[in-house]
This record gives sequence, structure tokens and C-alpha cells, in this order.
Amino acid sequence: MGKKALEQNLEQEAIKILVLELSQMDGATFFAKLNTEIPNEQMIIFDHAINLYLNFHMPVQHILGYSYFYGYKLKVSNKVLIPRPETEELVSYVMQTYDEVFDQKNVDVVDIGTGSGAIAIALAKEEKHFKVVATDISEEALEVAKENALLNDAQVEFIQGDMLEPLIARNLKFDILVSNPPYIPNEEYVEDIVKNNEPSIALFGGSDGLDFYDIILRNAHKILKEKAILLFEHSYSKKKEMLELAHKYFPKAKAEVIKDLNGKDRFLIIIC
Ligand code: SAM
Ligand code: GLN
Repeated sequence: MGKKALEQNLEQEAIKILVLELSQMDGATFFAKLNTEIPNEQMIIFDHAINLYLNFHMPVQHILGYSYFYGYKLKVSNKVLIPRPETEELVSYVMQTYDEVFDQKNVDVVDIGTGSGAIAIALAKEEKHFKVVATDISEEALEVAKENALLNDAQVEFIQGDMLEPLIARNLKFDILVSNPPYIPNEEYVEDIVKNNEPSIALFGGSDGLDFYDIILRNAHKILKEKAILLFEHSYSKKKEMLELAHKYFPKAKAEVIKDLNGKDRFLIIIC
């Protein structure tokens, strides 16, 4: 089983996660029980799940129907991006920067392109001073996000619309804007398991992958309070371009790119 996964460039780790999640055991208990015979009904469930992964290349999170983000269990489907570990770091930076700039103040936060609701839900749960709004253009993604907010008992207001338009139309103003927009250049190679299972609308960001940052940064002044912070996840290869955009639209602000845990340039933070 493991060998077949390796041969196909699939991840052995995925099989481990599947088996652990499906048996609802932690790693230590599972390995302690390795010599115990698995009941037949359980074996059928394992076989089915492993078959979906190995032979149909379905993401583990779709087989299970859920994923974890910042310690919260989130439903995922092929209508939303499966939340990525880098994005958990973005959530940490939002809270860290909030502490530095706003120190205990009640603030209005918006997550643009919320997908599964991952960023918005984690922020609403983690910081009681945040009042969180989240948007997406995809009605189907918002359905998933709303369900996730309910499942996690998170207070988030969801608004459907194109980028900042619905927020401008409602004359809403925010202290914190966070976004992990689609940022893969349209023609860039994307692994089959991503391309075949996650919505293109969540992945591609125009010819250079920067379209959504440009739209957001160009219009952000219309929805931000005078003192505000903006935080973005971006492609590891776009540090220079991201800083240029920040300086173009917010010439007086402090802008910085931070690396993710893999040492790749990944987050732009602007403090106005
Ligand atoms: N925030 C989630 C996360 O970090 O896991 C999802 C990020 S996914 C890369 C980008 C999201 O932006 C998708 O849910 C997609 O539907 C949404 N999106 C794409 N185009 C949009 C637009 N014009 N206006 C608002 N949202 C958009
Ligand atoms: N990190 C995602 C991927 O590589 C892309 C996320 C995004 O476009 N925001 O599939």
C-alpha cells in the first residue's frame, strides 16, 4: 500500500491520516493496537477510503469530508479551497499585528474570499475583540462557510459579492482587512490532485497571479478606517511585486513581507 503510494507520487502520510481519522484513534493508541485484528466492517471502510485516494486520487480531506484549520474542524467540498497550513500562519499574523497596533480595542475585520470560512472562523473564535465579516463571490462556497460557522459556533457575517464591491455598496468600514485570494498565474502548472478537485475560481489570479491584490489594494481605502492594517497571503515568488503594489496604493504606510515556516516569502503586512 505504502509502496504503491510512493510509486505514484502520492503521499504515504495521507494513508496514515485516513486510517487514523477513520478509526478515531490517536497515533499512540493506533500503533499500540497494530497487532489487534481489525473488524471486517472497519476494514471495508478503510479499503474504500484508501481506494478513493490511491486509484481515484481524491484528496484525503474530500474522502473524510472535513479538514482541520487552526484547531477547528471544517467541512470541505469541491466548492471550496481546502485550507492550507500557510494560511494558519496568516491567522497568527493577524492576531499578532492586531496586538501591536490595536491592543485590546474592539475592531471590525473583513476576510475577502473566505472559501470554507477558515480565516474568518478562526479569527472570530480566537479573539473576542474581533467583529468579523467575510465575503466570497461563490454562493456555493458561502453555503459551506456558513455551515462551518454554525458547526464551530462562530459569529461571522457572510456577504456575497465581487471583491470589495458589496462592502463599498453597504458603506462598511474596517480596521483589519485580510485575504488569501486566488494567486496562481493562469498558465502555471497545478498538480492534478489540486486542479481536478478544487474550484478554479479559488486558484487562479490572472496572467501574473496578481489581479486580486491589485483590485483589493486599489479600492481598499474605500472600506478602511483611517488607522488600519491589511494582511495577505501571496505566492512565494512575488515579494517584489507585492511590495510595489503596497507602495503604489499606500505610499505612506509601513509594508513588510514575511516568510512562512518553510522559509518562503508568503505574507504581506501593511500598517497604515
Ligand atoms: N480564504 C480561504 C482560505 O484561505 O482557505 C479560501 C481562499 S481561496 C484561495 C480564494 C477564494 O476567493 C475562493 O473561495 C473564491 O471563491 C474567492 N473568490 C474568487 N474570486 C472572487 C471575487 N471576484 N470576489 C470575491 N471572492 C472571490
Ligand atoms: N496555495 C494554493 C495552492 O498552491 C493556492 C492558494 C491561492 O491561490 N491562494 O494550491
